[in-house]
Amino acid sequence: MSPRSIVVFSVAVVLLLSGARVSAQGRVTFDIENGAAISGYNDVRIPGNTGTFFSITDDLTSATTYFWRVRAEVRVAPKHIVSVLAAPLTIDASGSFNRPVSFMGATFAAGAPVRGRYVFNSYRVSYRYEFVQTDNWRFGVGVTGKIRDAATRLESAGRIAEKTNVGFVPLVNFALERRLGTRATLQIAGDALAVPQGRAEDVFAGVLVHVGQYIEMHNALIGPYPYAKFALVENFWETGYGMPSFALLGPEVIRFPFILHSSYPHEILHNWWGNSVFVDDATGNWCEGLTAYLADHLVQEQQAKGAEYRRGTLQKHRDYVKD
Ligand SMILES: [Zn+2]
Repeated sequence: MSPRSIVVFSVAVVLLLSGARVSAQGRVTFDIENGAAISGYNDVRIPGNTGTFFSITDDLTSATTYFWRVRAEVRVAPKHIVSVLAAPLTIDASGSFNRPVSFMGATFAAGAPVRGRYVFNSYRVSYRYEFVQTDNWRFGVGVTGKIRDAATRLESAGRIAEKTNVGFVPLVNFALERRLGTRATLQIAGDALAVPQGRAEDVFAGVLVHVGQYIEMHNALIGPYPYAKFALVENFWETGYGMPSFALLGPEVIRFPFILHSSYPHEILHNWWGNSVFVDDATGNWCEGLTAYLADHLVQEQQAKGAEYRRGTLQKHRDYVKD
């Protein structure tokens, strides 16, 4: 099988369970990512000399497929890091071909109802040695063993043709971190392979924000955080819902870096006001004001922008409140 490529666009990354810099030995950190998968040029022709080129996603119709991936990392010794990653992906499609398609020795007639499935599961185990460890920089290099479990399958009138492909790929694992002040770290990390016919594969570049500080801040102000975790999750619709132990933000807003110091502390604080101490709707929504005061206003106040925040709030009040 020779899928030319499959492109997976992550619309947002989402779960940040780790509060501080990941440095404590033996500490396991998890991250989970999900998003919409869009397959690009994964035309296949099997067998390569007599099969027909087709694409499950171009020739047939598939609903938007959401993928997820989960990664766990543990520092087993001060400079030694081990991680595992699972990224399963299945795209189902159905419809009919506009021409006869020959695949794995079977012929699928033009116009006949066909169901197609494309599977690309990837599992990785990595080891990295971190040989630069200064206050501001960390850099480590290691190896990753990647197992690819792929399949292309067509089914029509009870007939199934399938090509499976399981393979092992060794990759170079690396991670570079630069601390940006006390609350953020720039990170470029991933697995890559530089060979003439290969390509860089799965590299993450982004800023990790140490969100645990907000939970700690409200712990100190109000009392212990009432839930075991907090997750910021991307919703399909544009929402800003603070739910018990998670918040659902829309795809447009979640990508803005500033939400980590605006919507993010606000939604965390709703775990106290609104999702632990409940609102009696009949008497008004008091928790919105208190949450805005102890999150939005307090964060601005800490950045010496409290006066601007208060002026903006008074302006909004004059604009929208009549009596
Ligand atoms: Zn709110």
